[in-house]
Amino acid sequence: MPESPEELHARVVAAVGEDGRLPMPPVHEWEIFPWELVDGALQPKVVPAPLDGPEPPRAGHDGVDCFSCAGDGNAARVWENQRWKLTHPPKPTGLPLVLWLSSKEHLDYADMGDELAGEYGRISTWLCRIMERLPHIGRVHVNRWGDGSEHLHVWFIARPERFPMIKGSLAVEWDEMLPPVPEDTWRADIHEVARKLATHDGRALV
Ligand SMILES: [Zn+2]
Repeated sequence: MPESPEELHARVVAAVGEDGRLPMPPVHEWEIFPWELVDGALQPKVVPAPLDGPEPPRAGHDGVDCFSCAGDGNAARVWENQRWKLTHPPKPTGLPLVLWLSSKEHLDYADMGDELAGEYGRISTWLCRIMERLPHIGRVHVNRWGDGSEHLHVWFIARPERFPMIKGSLAVEWDEMLPPVPEDTWRADIHEVARKLATHDGRALV
């Protein structure tokens, strides 16, 4: 069972004290971070001219040196069926649970045929429902960015309930800032998700 909001808060307090701030991530080094400090005030960055040519290829372009095709590196498989696999990060992160649903075949999101897209719709709905019904989960955000790696992968990000500032797209930033979830809690939740997903289709691998 995921931590209660009070347990999550206690985890933060244990790391940085009652009114302490978590360490600042290096957002000033991120090209995509949209704001910068100007004369002590946070301001939107100046929008530069676009690239002269096309964007550089993403990781695993055309299936060459593709992390997902090569077996996911350190990301362990949670569940699979014939065409889909569910993986978790190599270790717990700050939010209760983050999982990736990926096709086994090397293709991009928009390349799914109708049959595969229909199956994706069913699995993503089951998975979102299963994760949202875990105790103390406020919402599960389903995100396909695909800007880093070409191989189809969709993020399922469970945010905690009752933290009004850990919401929406910026909830993702808290995943790297919050101290990691205790490993035994995290593994038990992954097992529960895999077990329940396997009642619909495929098989649990954890
Ligand atoms: Zn691939």
